[in-house]
Amino acid sequence: MTSFHQKSVLVLGGSRGIGAAIVRRFAADGARVTFTYASSPAAAAQLASETGTTSVATDSADRDALIARVRESGPLDVLVVNAGFALHGDALDINPDDVDRLLQVNVHAPYHAAVEAARQMPDGGRIIVIGSVNGDRMPMPGMAAYAVSKSAMQGLARGLARDFGPRGITVNVVQPGPIDTDANPADGPMKDVMHGFMAIRRHGRPEEVAGMVAWLAGPEASFVTGAMHTIDGGAGA
Ligand code: NDP
Repeated sequence: MTSFHQKSVLVLGGSRGIGAAIVRRFAADGARVTFTYASSPAAAAQLASETGTTSVATDSADRDALIARVRESGPLDVLVVNAGFALHGDALDINPDDVDRLLQVNVHAPYHAAVEAARQMPDGGRIIVIGSVNGDRMPMPGMAAYAVSKSAMQGLARGLARDFGPRGITVNVVQPGPIDTDANPADGPMKDVMHGFMAIRRHGRPEEVAGMVAWLAGPEASFVTGAMHTIDGGAGA
């Protein structure tokens, strides 16, 4: 187990699902964790009280509020950008305003948050973004905007790794396959289709993703940057 005793960690989008598992993992490993949420104040308060972490309301779609939140967090050892969502439906019918909001939350926010965090981050800091296997491939129709957003995270990691590498700050993307959360429940209507692509035919658990995030944030991963780390039960194998 990696220890994050006294490390300062900010998780953007930590109230539920994968983000909540990441909050739990860093808290259990001794970090001082703050996490943001947008729509789930009760879940955020419950998690904060259970884990001894701090929750703050910040909508990742609000660029200036997000940048201010990162700045006010002070020097971060680890930034995890988890907040994100998918749109499903015919590309010809999806409301363009919904697409723009998705791009704000899934693309603009990670970029601005990562840059702002790097201003105060000590040498050797860690920036980790939760992308998706859909950044590599999209095996079904109706999710093009989501695929755009997760492919964009690959460019973010490659570019910012170059910018911040001289300071030993690493920038990586974790790319989950189907993970059992409110957004993609293991017993949802698409489970058989998704499991059909996979070598390990089940949804992953949020804690499994949190384990990969913890490794990337720890000292053993100091030479790993600008890279995509897929955790998908072999969906893309
Ligand atoms: P959930 O919908 O279960 O949880 C999303 C979390 O992000 C919640 O804590 C939510 O907080 C927060 N969030 C969403 N939008 C915003 C926002 N605008 N501002 C601040 N926080 C926000 O999703 P998952 O846990 O399933 O997904 C987490 C990440 O993992 C996403 O980036 C997703 O794309 C990615 N992913 C998920 C996969 C899966 O199968 N589950 C597969 C591949 C990638 P609140 O409710 O308070 O708004």
